[in-house]
Amino acid sequence: MTAKIIDGKQIAAQMREELKAEAARLKERGIVPGLGVILVGDNPASQSYVTAKEKACREIGIYSDDNRLPASTGQRELIALISRMNSDPKIHGILVQLPLPKHLDENEVLFAVTPEKDVDGFHPVNVGKMVAGQRAFLPCTPNGVVQLLLRSGVRIEGAHVVIVGRSNIVGKPLANMLIQKSPTGNATVTVCHTRTKNLSSHTLRADIIVAAAGCPNAITADMVKEGAVVIDVGVNRIEDATKKSGFRLVGDVDFEGVKEKASLITPVPGGVGPMTITMLLYNTVESAKRADGV
Ligand code: NAP
Repeated sequence: MTAKIIDGKQIAAQMREELKAEAARLKERGIVPGLGVILVGDNPASQSYVTAKEKACREIGIYSDDNRLPASTGQRELIALISRMNSDPKIHGILVQLPLPKHLDENEVLFAVTPEKDVDGFHPVNVGKMVAGQRAFLPCTPNGVVQLLLRSGVRIEGAHVVIVGRSNIVGKPLANMLIQKSPTGNATVTVCHTRTKNLSSHTLRADIIVAAAGCPNAITADMVKEGAVVIDVGVNRIEDATKKSGFRLVGDVDFEGVKEKASLITPVPGGVGPMTITMLLYNTVESAKRADGV
């Protein structure tokens, strides 16, 4: 079997068109969804993420309030900016780009964002609500994975999903989302990590594998059941002398081998990546709708 490719770029583009229409409807009611963006320091990867997020906001009609602060910014100054955004009615979502410089307390900063504007879904109140199955902002990457599955016609209900990785931003929230008693959940979930014994004994039983390990070739063809759906969240840089940059991006899955066994597979790049920013836009528009009483 050769897998069909799940085109994350195309699914993301379709969702962004829907959000553009939603933002236009809100504008007719006098509301422009607003995202407050905070970047501290000059980490090149963070700078390019933030630039991409700001561009995506402009394209769909979200106002973005950009704040690029020097690496020397203090904790109090940062919290004061977040407090201003918390009470600014033009701002519906607040994004603090991580990682923060070492001298800043990341947990305290994320906690300072009011849960009503926590469009990253990292605040403990939103995490708790998600676990309890209540309405909450869902974290963008795992929510992007769920959207990719649903919009590719994959049945999540009743499926055995094996997630490789248990981070707070991908593996753990995804597992929680998929076990909810809801039409987008109802899966049976196994979560694997570096202490898991005999990883392939788990992945071989999976109807859906989600690789979020940050490790190239963590999933190879011999670990995949014929016809399984394989979602690759990993983004890893590997050396490549043929590239001007000297490197290329690969996922956690041996794409060439696994695509001969899977029924559906995401590429890297062009799979989960484009969905992450899209879900941030989605949460920001949702927040504006909630502020409008929808
Ligand atoms: P992380 O915090 O480093 O967590 C990685 C997890 O994978 C850990 O739970 C680790 O186990 C587990 N793991 C690592 N190697 C493993 C192996 N060989 N076998 C089994 N488990 C293994 O990473 P993350 O932040 O979740 O990110 C994971 C990957 O997704 C990275 O490549 C990252 O760049 C990518 N990512 C992509 C997007 C996107 O938008 N496309 C967004 C977020 C992350 P332990 O807990 O035992 O250490």
